[in-house]
Amino acid sequence: MIRALQLDPEVQEVHAAPGNAGIALDVPVHAVDATDATGVTVLAGELNADLVVVGPEAPLAAGVSDALRQAGFTVFGPSKAAAELEASKSFAKDVMAQAGVPTAAAHTCSTVAEAEAALDAFGAPYVVKDDGLAAGKGVVVTSDRAQALDHARSCFDVNGTVVIEEFLDGPEVSLFVISDGTNAVPLVPAQDFKRIGDGDAGPNTGGMGAYTPLDWLPEGFVDEVMEAVARPVIATMADRGTPFAGVLYCGLALTSRGLRVIEFNVRFGDPETQAVLARLRTPFGRFLMDAATGCLAGLHELDWSDDYAVDVVVAAAGYPESPLKGGALQGVAEADALENVSVLHAGTSTAHDGGLVASGGRVLAVVGLGEDLAAARARAYAGVDLISLEGSQHRTDIGLKAERGEITLPEGEAR
Ligand code: AMP
Repeated sequence: MIRALQLDPEVQEVHAAPGNAGIALDVPVHAVDATDATGVTVLAGELNADLVVVGPEAPLAAGVSDALRQAGFTVFGPSKAAAELEASKSFAKDVMAQAGVPTAAAHTCSTVAEAEAALDAFGAPYVVKDDGLAAGKGVVVTSDRAQALDHARSCFDVNGTVVIEEFLDGPEVSLFVISDGTNAVPLVPAQDFKRIGDGDAGPNTGGMGAYTPLDWLPEGFVDEVMEAVARPVIATMADRGTPFAGVLYCGLALTSRGLRVIEFNVRFGDPETQAVLARLRTPFGRFLMDAATGCLAGLHELDWSDDYAVDVVVAAAGYPESPLKGGALQGVAEADALENVSVLHAGTSTAHDGGLVASGGRVLAVVGLGEDLAAARARAYAGVDLISLEGSQHRTDIGLKAERGEITLPEGEAR
């Protein structure tokens, strides 16, 4: 997002709080906790910020955008009330039911007996979801009933409730939709790779890579999502008196029974954002400013490069269960210097000796651009190959099925 903002000629300065070691190479960073509403508001005042973009879910759920708005700042990011669409899966299900949006049938359970009954009602594969925020790791999809029940028990300990839902077959697609509370503008669809291992093996993560565009999507897909999902949700949120202004991430499945929403996020999330924004040509700062000030009505289409973008995440050893922090990173600058390759940091920090070390589960991502998926993949992986971090993990199959034309839509999705 910071790189996209810097490319906008109208944007004079970008600052980040708290940022990370990679962001600090691009813009000034400030040691302010993003969930500290007072700290962020004071910083915005000191910087005389024209626009404050509240990025991650924790500050949104904590009401940082409300505090900034109350203090008179122009803010891109939904209110705390609207951020419930991500912060609570059961709230999102209620809104979808009211808006008539297709999603997996679900039960919100608060006892083990209810959870057992729900698991048996839906049958395997079981889908068990933490009701609250879990950094993309609160969902277990398994055919093992005991494992499903174990996860439900662990969710009760944290939230008191768990959402159990029907399994959605078919490929997943991510679409970001920007709204000013009334109008909605879609970005381009991307596909995310949730599981840690090649071939979708192992546990869910925050996302191990993404690519865009998706040549295999049925024609009219984006229009269908706008009509069936985004616009009804935005209208329903406005009717409820909690308008949604910000970015609505729609996680979708193309199932044998048609389009279904898997989940909403209320922010730009990795890794899709990294691939999608790499192709955006419309000035990003002006776009977010228009969304923040209720001025999206005149904007109909965004300008995109024809390039393909492939984003590959490099994660620390032990991710997602227990990522190993402190490992030394090498080759990052070399990878970033490759043509049509950029390295974006997530969990990195600077060590005492000035070197770069891993400080989080997903350490960084390498984005490759190319005239087709094969070229973009080759560039991203050339970058990944230059980076070394002991025990690090990355998937080798980001975008591979699409490159080989192996993605099939379930019967019934054909239209
Ligand atoms: P969520 O945090 O709800 O996006 O779930 C994370 C991941 O779990 C999704 O990207 C899917 O891969 C998987 N998942 C979630 N819900 C379902 C479902 N109902 N059926 C199949 N897979 C699911």
